[in-house]
Amino acid sequence: MRIGIVGAGQLGRMLALAGYPLGLRFVFLDRSEDAPGAQVGRIIPGAFDDAERLAELADCVDVVTFDVENVPETAVRNIAARKPFLPPVEALGASQDRLTEKTLFSKLKIPTPPFAPVDSFEDLERAAAKIDIPGVLKTRRLGYDGRGQYFVRKRSDLKIAWRTLGSVPLIYEGFVDFSREVSLIGVRSTSGETRFYPLSWNTHQAGILRHSIAPYRNAPLQKQAERHLTRLMKHFDYAGVLTVEFFVKRGRLIANEMAPRVHNSGNWTIEGAETSQFENHLRAILGLPLGSTRPIGHSAMVNFIGRIPSLRNILQVPGVHFHSYGKEPRPNRKLGHCTINASSSAGRDRALRQLLRQKLA
Ligand code: AMP
Repeated sequence: MRIGIVGAGQLGRMLALAGYPLGLRFVFLDRSEDAPGAQVGRIIPGAFDDAERLAELADCVDVVTFDVENVPETAVRNIAARKPFLPPVEALGASQDRLTEKTLFSKLKIPTPPFAPVDSFEDLERAAAKIDIPGVLKTRRLGYDGRGQYFVRKRSDLKIAWRTLGSVPLIYEGFVDFSREVSLIGVRSTSGETRFYPLSWNTHQAGILRHSIAPYRNAPLQKQAERHLTRLMKHFDYAGVLTVEFFVKRGRLIANEMAPRVHNSGNWTIEGAETSQFENHLRAILGLPLGSTRPIGHSAMVNFIGRIPSLRNILQVPGVHFHSYGKEPRPNRKLGHCTINASSSAGRDRALRQLLRQKLA
């Protein structure tokens, strides 16, 4: 079987690495011929909205999936007419627009911060008056890793927030004073079989994921999160991995966003779970039996952003597994990650502290 992946970033690369032992082969579509996927598969060079290149990809594989969300829905509908395209186009479409996404959360009774669309400065003033300040002004589309958002802390910030982002459709959200951020990764096969990983506890700085700890054991939150993902999966008749990021506030989950794909906060599953999110995504879109999502011990995942410390220093940390994506260093760019795996949570926390203390991350 051949799998086509739109996008050849690190997530696509890790999908291919998980798929080779299953006998799968991979072809990517990406603008950049030296994207991380190029190390493990053929790249068809092209933009994500290049109808001809997308058709070329669809014609040489059995199933098409993606590792990025900014693939135009209209371009993808052409592929979906030629070959199975999973997760469903509708889920991809909903995740591309924060307004559509939050409207869907509300419709499915999944708690989400109060929100309002903003297309003018007057809209922003009205939204801030109704929802309150502090709040966050975000671009509806193409925002990731903290890009395209402005934290409004006081009334006088509204003007500068509007000046900074105001040229595109926006959404204003209430600021959530959360105690922590968690994500749930679920997987549903084309046969309907569904499994969930344990929650990850995620720490962000400047909007970028720095590290995750998993399993984050909290039975009531796990149950709430699984209920929310089950609703989304049913709604889309979903197949593949689905991730939802939540804020935790007073024992309740508030959904921030969904990603209809494998997710950075699930990278720990490569060494930390019986079956990784990457392998389970492939099994799911091919209708194969899903693998166990049971954690093996206690894991922490640390992203390397902007620079990678020396391999020698990283590898001296007990229980560490290192992944370099083969990218050119650039500020705020995710270049690699490592996962620490330990038999106790105390051992995991010790190793994580060692990594963070040595400023390796
Ligand atoms: P996002 O791009 O929506 O994933 O936001 C990136 C990060 O900004 C999140 O992981 C939070 O740490 C923070 N953030 C986003 N939206 C809100 C909000 N409504 N309230 C508080 N913090 C937020």
